[in-house]
Amino acid sequence: MMLTVTEAYNAVLETVRDTGTEMVPFEKATGRILREPVLADRPFPPFDRVMMDGIAISYDSYARGQRVFVVEDIQAAGAPQLQLSNTANCLEVMTGAVLPDLTDTIVQYEHLEGTEHEGFKRFIIKHPVKKGQHIHKAGSDVRQDAVLMDSGVLLGPAEAGVLATVGKTTVMVSLRPRVVVIATGNELVPVDATPLPHQLRMSNVYSLSASLEQMGITATVVHLEDNPTTMAEQLKPLIAHTDVWISSGAVSAGKFDYLPEVLQQLGMQQVFHKVQQRPGKPFLFGTFHEGPVVFALPGNPVSGFMCFYRYVQPWLLAAMGCVPATPSYAVLSSKVIFEPNLEYYLPVKLHAQPHGKIMAVPQPYQGSGDLASLLLADAFMALPQGESVFKKGDSYPIWKFR
Ligand code: AMP
Ligand code: MG
Repeated sequence: MMLTVTEAYNAVLETVRDTGTEMVPFEKATGRILREPVLADRPFPPFDRVMMDGIAISYDSYARGQRVFVVEDIQAAGAPQLQLSNTANCLEVMTGAVLPDLTDTIVQYEHLEGTEHEGFKRFIIKHPVKKGQHIHKAGSDVRQDAVLMDSGVLLGPAEAGVLATVGKTTVMVSLRPRVVVIATGNELVPVDATPLPHQLRMSNVYSLSASLEQMGITATVVHLEDNPTTMAEQLKPLIAHTDVWISSGAVSAGKFDYLPEVLQQLGMQQVFHKVQQRPGKPFLFGTFHEGPVVFALPGNPVSGFMCFYRYVQPWLLAAMGCVPATPSYAVLSSKVIFEPNLEYYLPVKLHAQPHGKIMAVPQPYQGSGDLASLLLADAFMALPQGESVFKKGDSYPIWKFR
């Protein structure tokens, strides 16, 4: 029985295995998935922080009508806290400094006039002042020991700053899976070769490798000819040392599509073969008991590409401890008719509209062999099985690849 997309997706996710963890310097952790909670080692900010260059005063003096303040000293950022000795005076303060003791209000230079009187520097306050203004209170952003990030977070630039702030010099992240990308077919030649009229440069494995690179995974690339003996010989040594195989081609009904039988011979347990979807119907998925999970994707370039984003990427994210995000939705910009009883993955260009909705514009698309159509698209729109007319203005899930 051929599985639906949802059944196939659930079956794929059931096989997720943890890739394990490693400690890395935090500067090298961008793009990795965090595997430990990160706590605030101090309150954010850690002290009452001055937010303006100017003076710090005791508001009570201002409230009593005092407008002229003699300067006692300067409180700079990075200097230990000073104390006002007479609350009728002020301290000059710089942004980032600790609020001096016995002061509670900052007045910025823009609202002051500086004067000198008998060798004393003084400031006259020229604008109304509110009690407590321009102070970033200790702990007002985050309290001490609060969980700032939890396991499963993808580390990006914002996270790098927070890791640095809490002094997390090394951080626990997921190990990356060992992935092999496998090209199949006698028609394929290397990229730097000049193909004969009946040959093609292998391309699918490079789009798959590039998708993996964007996730920080560097894959090994292997090419198999359409010969069951040499296929088995090349694949067998890889079983013990790899986590994921992603192959392209040789899983359909062709006379030379030997991959399913070769994988079975090598001991792979097939989870499913064929899914009620277009493109990508011949997709085969299986697992080795002590070896990799195998995503045997169809050879047509759009099929393999779609299967990567619909099945392989969520599996890889889950294996690295990251819950795959639920897809977002977009609005179909024109009517689409699709008769077969399959879930249809339509290449679309996305346009964010001023009113906040994302329009999905179907692109010229000649079918699953149309590799160049992907250049014009940003995502696949998933049009549900069992319907054949998809109206302009209706919303459907999108699986983005750009
Ligand atoms: P197959 O599933 O092996 O019959 O392949 C389906 C189509 O995809 C054929 O036209 C193949 O030439 C093409 N194809 C398979 N693998 C690749 C690849 N790695 N790069 C480019 N095209 C491929
Ligand atoms: Mg083939």
